[in-house]
Amino acid sequence: MNPGFKKVRRKKTKYIIVHTSELGLKTTLKVVSKGKRLRNGKSTHGGHTHYVIARNGRTYRILDKKYVADHAGLSMWNGEQDISKTSIGIELAGYHYASISESQYRSVGILIDLLQSVYDLDDRAVLTHSQVAYGIPNRWFKKNHRGRKRCAKNFIHARAGVRPVWTYDPDVRSGRLITDPQLSKVFYARREYYAETINTNIISRRNTAWSIAGEDYDDRTTVYKFPDGHVYTGDQISDTIGWNSIPAKTVVLLNQENSISLIKSEGPVKTISDSLTAWTFAGKKYSHKTTIYFLPSGQIKSGSQISDWDDLPVNTRLIVDYRGPFKLRKNQSAYRIAGNKYKDRMTIYYLPSQKLMAGDKIDDFTELPTGTLIFLPST
Ligand SMILES: [Zn+2]
Repeated sequence: MNPGFKKVRRKKTKYIIVHTSELGLKTTLKVVSKGKRLRNGKSTHGGHTHYVIARNGRTYRILDKKYVADHAGLSMWNGEQDISKTSIGIELAGYHYASISESQYRSVGILIDLLQSVYDLDDRAVLTHSQVAYGIPNRWFKKNHRGRKRCAKNFIHARAGVRPVWTYDPDVRSGRLITDPQLSKVFYARREYYAETINTNIISRRNTAWSIAGEDYDDRTTVYKFPDGHVYTGDQISDTIGWNSIPAKTVVLLNQENSISLIKSEGPVKTISDSLTAWTFAGKKYSHKTTIYFLPSGQIKSGSQISDWDDLPVNTRLIVDYRGPFKLRKNQSAYRIAGNKYKDRMTIYYLPSQKLMAGDKIDDFTELPTGTLIFLPST
């Protein structure tokens, strides 16, 4: 924990708030304990949650539950404000546009049961951050409104053993806030599948920058990767592109503080870092056999051989939509394997030295060592 974090005992406990961290486990643990940089350039002092639950179900305690954790920000439920002061925070490592794992549902269910019995709370006390956060007027809303956060909008209460007993938003009903139409459908339209259909971080007519990023839409840590490969940060969009001109199929990534250059890097070989996970690059395809991982240990695995996107070490490289390997041999030249695509930038060579090279970067193919592996685009 950041030594600057002040522990304050919580006087009342009325809610359990579920979040998605929008990061892999390692960076999640760091951010919630050590703090993060805010949009005004200042840093927080950590203490952003009581618990973190990894994709494999392992539960980490960050802060003793008797203290106030700084996790809900500007928030309101049933007329009561500043929900951090009266709640427990649980972070699920992962993304609001990815599925929450079975193991996470199992663990969070157990944790919620325990906390409910300690604090004598019913199922109505279990809410997501996106349910309780609210925002002040902005370009999307003229009044105080729901929808500032999309955090855990993919959380299906029933799968954690919680009956989704709130069938309406009390602050919207009373007129204290105006509704966010999409979130309201997710949580109150009794159509649980709706959460699944919008489980994507890709811009479309229905899935706007606002539906994906919430209030972080114009933040410098939010990254927009356009289909043509151009990369912009949220704070650059209004001056360069305009909010109404973001092309469909643009990918939106949250919490990208130090990784812009990695996202910008062209070419099919991607590298996993602290804030860029296999999910960031491959999405649902992370577990397909056409996604190939090159681990720092030298092992090569296909998506079907890995347990989860969050279990791969930093510096693992990957290529998506590939087939192979095809082994270079004396009587099996690059040309024999790849045809006239052997010099193509999409044809990937894995050298025995663990170096990955694109075909267009290789000068002399006769110098390639025996044992070099070739991977070809599968489409
Ligand atoms: Zn949250």
